[in-house]
Amino acid sequence: MSGNLGWVNKPLAQDLSERLGIPVTLTNDANAAAYGEYACGAGSDYKSVVLITLGTGVGSGIVLNGKLFEGNEGAGAELGHEVIRMDGEKCACGRRGCFEAYASATALIKQTMRAMEKDRQSMLWQLCGGDINKVNGKTAFDGAQSGDRTAKRVVSNYLRYLSEGLANIANTFRPEAILIGGGSARRERA
Ligand SMILES: [Zn+2]
Repeated sequence: MSGNLGWVNKPLAQDLSERLGIPVTLTNDANAAAYGEYACGAGSDYKSVVLITLGTGVGSGIVLNGKLFEGNEGAGAELGHEVIRMDGEKCACGRRGCFEAYASATALIKQTMRAMEKDRQSMLWQLCGGDINKVNGKTAFDGAQSGDRTAKRVVSNYLRYLSEGLANIANTFRPEAILIGGGSARRERA
């Protein structure tokens, strides 16, 4: 069902398959991205890869021995909702302390804003023209690159959160590669 599109029980894969004349399977965006990278992208040298996307949330897709692993009824493989801090930040899923609540771009923006509120002298204010609502997923990285101490601390903490989740993934699946995508991924080391 899609509330936005007004579809209820629409056999989308079948309809598309008939139109295109090729087999069609449906999955979510992060699963499709993981399989795409495995089939002909950054994961094509490996049999087992995990992909995570850092955006509004933390999406994930898992390919094990060449097969997409989605969990029962395609509802699993949600690594963004692994808890990395018990009783931590509230997550959109209703739990607290999820990886997503610390490592998504949305979380990084919140972390940046909080740090700015505590440090009115930080260069981060200049980087967003004095308007805290203009902070984006790049602001802290830009500040850190310019040497701002508060920005460096934000980035350093963010990378710790990210590492915590990645270590869980490595311990659980021991994939040959973990691929990181999404808006925040293309940042240089601060
Ligand atoms: Zn969650």
